[in-house]
Amino acid sequence: MKKLFYLACSVFLISCDHQENKGQETAIDNNASFDRYKERFVEELWKMYPDWATSQGYHAYDSVLVIPGPAERARRLQFVKNNLDSLSHFPKSSLNSNNAIDLALIGNFLKSTEWGITTFKSYEWDPSMYNYGSVIGDILNNKQVHTDAKAATINAKLKNLETYFAAAKADISSPTKEHTDLAISQLKGTVSFLETSVKDSIKALGNELSYTYLQNLDKAVVSTNAFIKYLEGLRKEMEAVGGKIRSFRIGKELYDQKFAFDIQSGMKAEEVYEKALQRKDELHQEMAAIAKRLWPKYMGKAEQPADVKEMIKALIGTIAKTHVKREDFQKEIEREIPILTGFVKKKNLLYMDPSKPLVVRKEPEWMAGVAGASISSPGPYDKNGNTFYNVGSLAAYSPADAESYLREYNKYILQILNIHEAIPGHYAQLIYSNQSPSIIKTILGNGAMVEGWAVYAERMMLEEGWAKNTEINGSIEEDEMWLMYYKWHLRVVCNTILDYSVHVKGMTEDEALNLLMNEAFQEKAEAQGKWRRATLTQVQLCSYYTGFAEIFDFRESLKKKEGKAFDLKKFHEKFLSYGSAPVKYIKELMQ
Ligand code: ZN
Ligand code: ZN
Repeated sequence: MKKLFYLACSVFLISCDHQENKGQETAIDNNASFDRYKERFVEELWKMYPDWATSQGYHAYDSVLVIPGPAERARRLQFVKNNLDSLSHFPKSSLNSNNAIDLALIGNFLKSTEWGITTFKSYEWDPSMYNYGSVIGDILNNKQVHTDAKAATINAKLKNLETYFAAAKADISSPTKEHTDLAISQLKGTVSFLETSVKDSIKALGNELSYTYLQNLDKAVVSTNAFIKYLEGLRKEMEAVGGKIRSFRIGKELYDQKFAFDIQSGMKAEEVYEKALQRKDELHQEMAAIAKRLWPKYMGKAEQPADVKEMIKALIGTIAKTHVKREDFQKEIEREIPILTGFVKKKNLLYMDPSKPLVVRKEPEWMAGVAGASISSPGPYDKNGNTFYNVGSLAAYSPADAESYLREYNKYILQILNIHEAIPGHYAQLIYSNQSPSIIKTILGNGAMVEGWAVYAERMMLEEGWAKNTEINGSIEEDEMWLMYYKWHLRVVCNTILDYSVHVKGMTEDEALNLLMNEAFQEKAEAQGKWRRATLTQVQLCSYYTGFAEIFDFRESLKKKEGKAFDLKKFHEKFLSYGSAPVKYIKELMQ
């Protein structure tokens, strides 16, 4: 799911007011023609973006390699122009709410595409966008196609790599060090993938074609290695010139624009940042109060550190030692899911369709092998597919690494993870979004709403008494649950602070590590990984907290307005019924 929302970079800068034509409100019903337009739009979209199509399970253009450069950008700008024109013929008032949101999502996508080409221009500074490895992986992993057909497709796709890299070189005018390093390491991975998995699958053909294919594959490896060499050369030049290199920090102007397109929030980036700063202080106060209460239980007579943050950190480290055995990790997840479902039902929080159970499975091999947990939903072209809860295997971990992982996902955090990923988090949201199927919301859906809902679900479950539930903890361990929940929540709060500070306020690596380790109580390895992610991406780290804050604030304002009449279950069901739409549009439609 993460991948999906990553690709869907979208917003509607101009509020749709100007399109409303009051006189037509009841006169025109454009829904049927808008449905037809959407079908055409998606068809064209896939033709324009073959790699994206492949990743969504649409395989008609698998063999097409798009050559980057000015001609391609002109083609895309024309696509934007044509479709913005088409959209202008559908007044929002002539559409039902489902289509009105789709209209906004498509409009945002188009304007975001235009902005990417004319203003953001990552093709000039991010060489990692020329790594074609993941789409080859998507083609190879397509289970619906025979090996010989896949080999032919890959052969065709790689045929023009030399032209492709020549165009890439022409476009890369001001690379950042960080994105160049990323490109080099990723492309090396791609080469090794070509030389192992791809080569093996071609060899397995054993027919007369495989000889030609293998020769072409060798050429692809040579072209890619030459491009890597070129990037390594650029990297050396950068060291030599010193100060004149483009920074990975995008600065306030671009950040604000990207935030508007990617998050589609009712708030501005700076407001969210300020809100997160304040929230961090509140969380520290809550945590200090709990830590003082819990100290004797876990630390006995040991002296409490004078610095409250040190005290919190010491206590978290001790409580984290309560965790399942490595061989029981998946079993424990399987045990907790029905208990969570039962709680949601008992407390009347949300109706969940029992006919579509979640399938917990060991993470498939091709999912990168990074231990962790994720939800895979069936793609838009695989409607009857299962929804899986993928659980990373700890089998390959050294005892020390497994212990560190299990402390991270200790007894309490594991419950919060299950709430976030499954019930009533991502999985429950998916069930609702599937009830009003919209291919537009599947491919251009709003990541901040989806992540925000899962983060909101954590908070809401604890508010409704999950911390007092003894079915998993054995006895009431309310303070432990809340303390660990706050630690987990600090992560999303600090993701926002980090991202904004790094890109807009020039935060240094030392300052970032200090924030994450001393204020969010993270281990060094996690903090370093997060710093790196903040240097390579922009805005995405804000989506979790922004979505959460918007949903939470919206609920609180409705509660205030409706008083005793407010019904939590109805609120949740209504909220989710609009699918993966930006919270600001859902608010508009619910009020
Ligand atoms: Zn242990
Ligand atoms: Zn999530």
